[in-house]
Amino acid sequence: MTFDYGKKIEVRYDVDVCVIGGGPAGVAVGFTAASQGARVLMIDSNGFFGGVATAALVPAFMRFANGDVFLSGGIGREIYDACEIEKYGTGIRVEKLKRIYDNMVIESGCDFLFHTNLIDVVVENGFVKYAIVSAKSGIYAIKAKVFVDATGDGDLCAMAGNPYEMGDEDGKCMPATLCSIWVDIDWDNVQKPDSRELARAFADGVFTQEDYHLSGMWRTGEHLGGGNIGHCYNVVATDERSLTQAMVTGRKILPEFEKYYREYLGGGYANTSVAISGSYLGVRESRRIVGEYVLNEEDYVKRASFDDEIGRYYYPIDIHPDPSKDSYDKFLQEFHGLRYQPGESYGIPYRSLVPVKLANVLVGGRCISTDKKMQSSIRVMPGCYITGQACGMASVLAANKDGETRNVNIRELQDKLRSIGGYLPK
Ligand SMILES: Cc1cc2nc3c(=O)[nH]c(=O)nc-3n(C[C@H](O)[C@H](O)[C@H](O)COP(=O)(O)OP(=O)(O)OC[C@H]3O[C@@H](n4cnc5c(N)ncnc54)[C@H](O)[C@@H]3O)c2cc1C
Repeated sequence: MTFDYGKKIEVRYDVDVCVIGGGPAGVAVGFTAASQGARVLMIDSNGFFGGVATAALVPAFMRFANGDVFLSGGIGREIYDACEIEKYGTGIRVEKLKRIYDNMVIESGCDFLFHTNLIDVVVENGFVKYAIVSAKSGIYAIKAKVFVDATGDGDLCAMAGNPYEMGDEDGKCMPATLCSIWVDIDWDNVQKPDSRELARAFADGVFTQEDYHLSGMWRTGEHLGGGNIGHCYNVVATDERSLTQAMVTGRKILPEFEKYYREYLGGGYANTSVAISGSYLGVRESRRIVGEYVLNEEDYVKRASFDDEIGRYYYPIDIHPDPSKDSYDKFLQEFHGLRYQPGESYGIPYRSLVPVKLANVLVGGRCISTDKKMQSSIRVMPGCYITGQACGMASVLAANKDGETRNVNIRELQDKLRSIGGYLPK
């Protein structure tokens, strides 16, 4: 059954740039655009910035540098320094990261609203005119010259009718993980796990599902650990029924891992327990918005360069496999076999941030225009800072003219990105 639901709503904001989503990509967009003097409004469904790192408790940053060059320069460098990664390592101190993002966004002059959801868009001739949002105060519209989709799932672009791809040829995405915070770890006595302990736990029937790919635990405090532990398979991240089921599964399997860490790994983990799991599911993969260029595996393999590149990155192709041993062995082969040597990188073209059907929209973060393999590389947080920063700068250049993201002068964009620390070799 359907029915027409029409209602007059207020246009409450009219800004240069509206950013939907305040994860690593969105924060980079909002911070960069506002620092350039644009009037920016960023919204997020959560009560804090950080996306899956803070809501889903993803415990660590992947690397910002490729062993030679700091690729995630600009906002990535600021976050790297603010998190004191040189001192503490890449494990994420969640509460600290939330404050770092709050301060950065506030200082940039970017306006923002939490607990605010994008629910629809109004599109005219390829231009998104309004974002329709729902919040505690009701439903209202945000008008902007340029919109940036940093939702991770490409919600805005999909609502606006831009084509997208999702998963493999059967639509199947990588597993998701309900990450968690673990307490009472004696890090001095933690040994690197070896596959025999996992085999023993399998033989003893500890796990409901035998999964050979156990991402593991990162140090996130004196006695704290962040667990990227417990894959949930066959999740459709754009379907709340599927997300609901996965949250329940994620919570259900955590005690199995608790037993495994305490009794099978023991040592520094002998007294550990799960303190809390994420309030949102850790989704690795959902929509990939089709843009003017689809960055792909071949580009990764050939370390591609592009005239319109907005940055370079390097992280390996990292497709989390099915639970079986065969799939895990294939994963290891691909992950290590295709891995770059120190100093190598691939370019990210501006065109992969420009949705193919939309005039005044850019997309940043894990849902930019790539194939499945490339998505598994660029999706990590330092990569999201690079694409988010570029969207932020480009959105200002577009908003200063007619809002058309295809009219951005690429040389000017590249020079401006360099001037704030972006890595763009000449
Ligand atoms: C289990 C797991 C482990 C990972 N491990 C690592 C790792 O070790 N290191 C690393 O660097 N990366 C890791 N990643 C990848 C990385 O964390 C994500 O890909 C990255 O956070 C994506 O950033 P994003 O800004 O594109 O999206 P997200 O982080 O997903 O942020 C999107 C934001 O948009 C908001 N939003 C979404 N839809 C709407 C809407 N309709 N209205 C309003 N707001 C909306 C959300 O609330 C969220 O805050 C991991 C990811 C997962 C899931």
